[in-house]
Amino acid sequence: MSIPEQDWQAAVTAIADAEQAVISCHVHPDGDALGSALALHRALANTGRKAVVSFSEPFTVAPHYRFLPGLDRLTPPDQVPAAADLFVCFDAGSLDRLGSLVDAFEGAARTVVVDHHASNTRFGDINLIDPASPASAVLCRELLRRLGLPLDRDIATCLYTGLVTDTGRFQYQATSPDTHRLAAELLAAGVEQYEVAKAVFETNRIGYLRLVADALGQLVQVPEASLVWTRVGLADLAAHGVDMEETEGLIDLVRTDGASDVAAVLKEQPDGTWKVSLRSKGATDVGRIATRFGGGGHKFAAGFTTELDPEATVAAVVEAVTGHATSPLAR
Ligand code: 5GP
Ligand code: MN
Repeated sequence: MSIPEQDWQAAVTAIADAEQAVISCHVHPDGDALGSALALHRALANTGRKAVVSFSEPFTVAPHYRFLPGLDRLTPPDQVPAAADLFVCFDAGSLDRLGSLVDAFEGAARTVVVDHHASNTRFGDINLIDPASPASAVLCRELLRRLGLPLDRDIATCLYTGLVTDTGRFQYQATSPDTHRLAAELLAAGVEQYEVAKAVFETNRIGYLRLVADALGQLVQVPEASLVWTRVGLADLAAHGVDMEETEGLIDLVRTDGASDVAAVLKEQPDGTWKVSLRSKGATDVGRIATRFGGGGHKFAAGFTTELDPEATVAAVVEAVTGHATSPLAR
């Protein structure tokens, strides 16, 4: 693990010394962000420690994660202490990713940033950043171990959800023997893995499936960039009665186009901007491209938001891909 020992120790001391900790994660939290934050919160609460767990407006949990234990313990972001002694955040690559909790982060006496994004800007007082880690949940588990906080079934379920989602069900590049050893440890702690799989991967609404049919029907391949893309507009959501939070899995279908290294899904936001999800099978560093366009992420999974229309956005991505290919495969 690439995190220096003294940083682990500083984080452990900061958390152990805190009267009251605020625990959070990035806006529009995914399984890893939410799972990690809820896991540390429960582990502290189990030992009688005062802690608050929250995330930014829009304060809604995507349908696939509504089974997570501890959602009932979330504090709305406008009730988070403005000047806590400690703020711990998970899975956020930069300060702006905390959304409406940026002020609470800046108002805290000490801050700990736990993350696995290569693009992390190290915005905390203490930074536990390991880009080789497949999920923030892995770092959260190590933090709990060092704090001497035991797992229970609910903590393990939160961590397992982070692990299984961020590794793409144990198939992405960062998956290692250690990943499987952690999964085994979590299952042994009582995780009902099929219940997690059912909730996260096996439960869609028919409207979502019909929206996917439309989105896949509009796929466009750009062979010169080895790229495939589609879009989801607000009108598509309305037509099928779907929330944008439900469409997280669409990119995982699009990226299976065997002719393309890069996949992009463009999602229209209520303010008219477009959120772009990028994935690569290994020939293109999409994290670098997303960072260049004001976003961030990992080498092979990244995103950004743009005011350009979809065609202009894709043209810019195509230009970036063909100019930044790390292998002839991407051409
Ligand atoms: P997704 O496409 O699933 O929304 O995001 C893929 C990865 O890129 C995630 O790790 C996510 O945290 C990161 N990411 C997505 N959008 C942004 C963004 O606008 N800014 C930053 N810094 N990271 C992003
Ligand atoms: Mn993550």
